[in-house]
Amino acid sequence: MEGKKQRRAAANEATIRDVNEGIERGQWPGEEDSPVGFRCECARLGCNRLIELTVREYEEIRAHPRRFVLVPGHEFPDVETVVETGPRYVIVEKLDQAGEVAEQHDPRG
Ligand SMILES: [Zn+2]
Repeated sequence: MEGKKQRRAAANEATIRDVNEGIERGQWPGEEDSPVGFRCECARLGCNRLIELTVREYEEIRAHPRRFVLVPGHEFPDVETVVETGPRYVIVEKLDQAGEVAEQHDPRG
């Protein structure tokens, strides 16, 4: 994937991550271990799949600015490397330019 496309895909993912931050903030205190439907953070335009994660699980992923959570099979090996695979989701880490954009758009950065 060329640089321009990489950056656009990464910006799209950053937007979805903002949505997920909002979902997380909408949870009641004390519900860190209840499953919540977070949006798939993949680069596919129009993907609106949901992934069930607890707030605690989501926090562990979001502790790394280059990491995103995806529906299994939605990863793009060109721009990201899978760091964890589970039955419900995969966690990927962005490489190169996509990683830099992810860090720049980190809502907590
Ligand atoms: Zn997806």
